[in-house]
Amino acid sequence: MSGKILFVDQSGGMGGAEMGLQDIAAHFRARCSVLLLSDGIFRERLEARGVSVRVLEMPAAVRGVAREGKFSAGMSALPGLLRPVARGYSLARAHDVLYANTQKALVVACLLGAAARRPVIWHLRDILSLEHFQSWLIALAAFLGNRACARVIANSRATAGSFVRAGGWPDRLRVVYNGIDASEFEVAPAEIARDGKFLVGLFGRLAPWKGQHVLLEALALAPDVDAIVVGDALFGEDAYAAKIRRLADQSRVRLLGFRPDAYALVRACDAIVHTSVAPEPFGRVVVEGMLAGRPVVAAAAGGVPEIVEDGVSGLLVPPGDAAALAAALGRLRDDPALCKRLGEAGRRHAMAHFSLRAMLAGVESVVEEVLR
Ligand code: UDP
Repeated sequence: MSGKILFVDQSGGMGGAEMGLQDIAAHFRARCSVLLLSDGIFRERLEARGVSVRVLEMPAAVRGVAREGKFSAGMSALPGLLRPVARGYSLARAHDVLYANTQKALVVACLLGAAARRPVIWHLRDILSLEHFQSWLIALAAFLGNRACARVIANSRATAGSFVRAGGWPDRLRVVYNGIDASEFEVAPAEIARDGKFLVGLFGRLAPWKGQHVLLEALALAPDVDAIVVGDALFGEDAYAAKIRRLADQSRVRLLGFRPDAYALVRACDAIVHTSVAPEPFGRVVVEGMLAGRPVVAAAAGGVPEIVEDGVSGLLVPPGDAAALAAALGRLRDDPALCKRLGEAGRRHAMAHFSLRAMLAGVESVVEEVLR
């Protein structure tokens, strides 16, 4: 195998896309570099795993373009891309394929790919729907996927379907599920002060669509259940984070912020909840709960029903339905045998279907297809 890969990611912080890329880049470390459009803990983590990293900070106008941003803001940010793209040109020329891991990275990778005449692979980790993006961003993504990418890797069938519904061509699309190393859950559980109550964990960045407020509402209906909420605002959702801090009953909910030791915290919980109110593209946190052998209660939308079979490998509830979530938590709290059965079946299922090895093999075969 040969051919050098330049991964491109916009984030300096750790979201699901970065957790996934960290494992992929470490696997290819002998023949890849990562280009980050923002500096932060992600660079440190990649470097700690022996991956070569370059940071090309984007100008404020580009950083400021958000999923809910206006078309005019996107257009006025375009000139700001020229200088970083010019600076990244020789790096792109030194690689054989560019691999975009996020939406802004896609734009940068496509410009770099066109300038340096290198094929682009796009790892699509978002649902391209109006719940997540402005329509012009969806149209742009589908256009770039069709016209500027050799292959599009979708992280679930739900994500792939959204690409096709947005006008994306199915012929270049490949579904590769996220995979997580099960051995990483052999860590000791984090120490959390407990007063004997059933403890649930909600992991993920604080954002309205991640639905932390749904858990707070459910807790009001589920006595004898306490919670830890792990994660912080990553992409400017500070107002929502402040609202969650204000609403949380601190005697029952601990807001732990972003934690690098998330897996040890997962192990400390009796159950894991997932509360996204818009379709989740994949939902690493769901698989992580399963790999830790914990029963999961997850919102049934997007890629989540591809991961969890209701009543067999976890419990599914309608997104945004605090009463259904409270009822599911009550069931688990009152039935340790059910927790054990769902936890064990969930772990078996996640190990069989969402292994790191399978994900790396899937990514590698797409990379080789393009290099050929
Ligand atoms: N995570 C973490 N520390 C935190 C909160 C979350 O390491 O404080 C990790 C979590 O374990 C998971 C990822 O962030 O691996 C979130 O991925 P997911 O696919 O659930 O959501 P995304 O961020 O991609 O929307």
